[in-house]
Amino acid sequence: MTTPSFQLTTLSQSSLQDYVDCAQRFKLRYLDRLSYPALETEPTLENEKHQQEGEYFHRLVQQHLIGIPAEQIARFANTPNLGRWWENFQNAKELTGLRGRDRSGLYPEATLSAPLGKYRLLAKYDLIAIENGKALIYDWKTYRRRPRDEWLSARMQTRVYRALLVNAGAHWNNGRAFEPEQIEMIYWFADFPNEPARFAYTSAQFKRDWELLTKLADEIDSAASYPLTEDRQKCLYCTYRSYCERGIRAGDMDQAEAEMEAESLFDINFEQIGEIAF
Ligand code: SF4
Repeated sequence: MTTPSFQLTTLSQSSLQDYVDCAQRFKLRYLDRLSYPALETEPTLENEKHQQEGEYFHRLVQQHLIGIPAEQIARFANTPNLGRWWENFQNAKELTGLRGRDRSGLYPEATLSAPLGKYRLLAKYDLIAIENGKALIYDWKTYRRRPRDEWLSARMQTRVYRALLVNAGAHWNNGRAFEPEQIEMIYWFADFPNEPARFAYTSAQFKRDWELLTKLADEIDSAASYPLTEDRQKCLYCTYRSYCERGIRAGDMDQAEAEMEAESLFDINFEQIGEIAF
C-alpha cells in the first residue's frame, strides 16, 4: 500500500460516492490523483460524445436561466441529442414554473460548502430555485435510461445536496437555515422530460444524512487502508480496472442496466471542475 500523495481538504458527493462504492477507487482518484488508465465504457467515441453533449446542454440551460432568450440558445442546440434535449426542456410540463418566471430567486450553477469533520463539504448545484418559502434543487441528467427512484434516493448526491442546503443556504432564507421540510430535490431527465424524480426532505432524513456524512468524513480522515471493493460489478466500468487487475476491456454500455453506475460516472467531471476551481 503506497502513501497517498495529496492531502485532501474537500469532500463532494462524487468523492463520497466513490468512497462508499470502493475505497480503493477513492484513493486512486482523490488521493493519488491517478489519471484515467482505462476507458470507462465501450463504444468509446459515442460515449465521449454523449458526455460532451451533456456538458454542453448544462451550459445552454445555465445561459438561458441567466437571461439569454430561448430562441438564441436554440441555435446552439445543433446536434440531434442537443436539439431533442433543448426541445424537451422548453416543453416539459414539469418545468413550466421555471420558464415562466422572472430570474430573481433562480441560482444556476450555485456552489455551497460547509465544514464536515476535518474537511469542507462542497457541492455545485445545477440550479437552486427559491419560491414561496421553498428551496427546490434541480439537477439535469442526460442519462440514456431513467434510473429507479430507489437508486437515486440512495445516491450520495441526493443526500449531500439536500443536507448541505440546510447547513449552508441561510443566505437564501433571510439568514435562517432552511428547515429540511422546505427543501425538495428534483432530477430532471432530458430524455424523459415528464418523468422527473422528486425527493422531498424531512428533519429525520437530514439528521440521518448529516450523521452519515460526518461518519464517512471521520472514516476517511482516519483510514489506514483502502480495500478493493468486493462487488466486482462496480469494476466493470471503472477506469482503474486494469490497474487493479480487474479486467482490461470495459463493459458494454448497452448491456442491460449493469446499474446506472456507468452513466453516473459521467457526473464526476462537473464535480471535479468544481473542486479544482474552488
Ligand atoms: S477496478 Fe474495482 S477495485 Fe479497482 S478501483 Fe475500480 S471499483 Fe475499485
